[in-house]
Amino acid sequence: MERYNRFSKYLRSRFREKVLKLTLDLGLGCPNRDGTLSSEGCIYCDEFGSGPDSSMIPIDEQIKTRMELLKQKRGVNKFIGYFQSYTNTYCSPEFLEEKLSILLNYPEIVLVYIGTRPDTFTKEHLEVIKRFKVQKDIGIEFGLQSARNETLEKINRQHKFEDFETAVKLTISEGIFTTAHIIIGLPGEDISDNIYTAQELSRLQVHSVKIHQLYIIKGTHLEKLFLSREFSPISFESAVERTVAVLINLDKRIIIQRLTGDPKPGQLVSPDWIRDKHRFINMVEKIMNEKNLTQGQFS
Ligand code: SF4
Repeated sequence: MERYNRFSKYLRSRFREKVLKLTLDLGLGCPNRDGTLSSEGCIYCDEFGSGPDSSMIPIDEQIKTRMELLKQKRGVNKFIGYFQSYTNTYCSPEFLEEKLSILLNYPEIVLVYIGTRPDTFTKEHLEVIKRFKVQKDIGIEFGLQSARNETLEKINRQHKFEDFETAVKLTISEGIFTTAHIIIGLPGEDISDNIYTAQELSRLQVHSVKIHQLYIIKGTHLEKLFLSREFSPISFESAVERTVAVLINLDKRIIIQRLTGDPKPGQLVSPDWIRDKHRFINMVEKIMNEKNLTQGQFS
């Protein structure tokens, strides 16, 4: 029995074959790094904006190289073009439209996702997305991390939950597939904060959620806090417990894109358990099976 609404299942039912993400870098910055809002960035973010560093490579070249690699290595023929690094609406609507138009040349790209901060998303960006959607399916992913404003302040997000709510209402009202990115294990948060965030996402009826477990990577402010013993990551057991709590409090229609993330090779500082993604996912499923829990049971 499926205990939660998996993204892989959603993709298979839509496209009848495996679809993989092509992570792309538009070379944009982030207002939380360039001094507009702050120069420090979110405390867990490294200088590459939580994505691959390909900012100098033209989008066409990034697409061709990565697509070829995935076709050869994984035998897939359909892809999601994913603008991941930094803040992909921290640009004029014209710039975004021009870059999106490149993806129209690739029939293998069946979906496009744009990752961004909610406070940089405007009605003009929405118009670009609506025009693009007529030709190719597109969705948006807003970084939220937590619905608690105290936490957002602590991690130096430099936006509030209300910015997220405004952006989400705009995209949802236009039928744009909307994803929220959240993090479990943020400083000062306990399981009740994670449940609250899940409840807020259910209330807003986002279409999908990406869950990450907080890990520390080199060169971040979080690493400094860790080394000075001002912050410790949560244990494997606590992360599993909190993830299960989030799932059972998320509306059952919400698609779960992931339960944990992948640190870049050689960049992880702590915790060590994050390296074994399969062990983590298996444990979440085991607990849900043993306790007969399903997504949305408490929403
Ligand atoms: S908003 Fe994104 S790119 Fe900017 S500092 Fe935070 S995590 Fe990094």
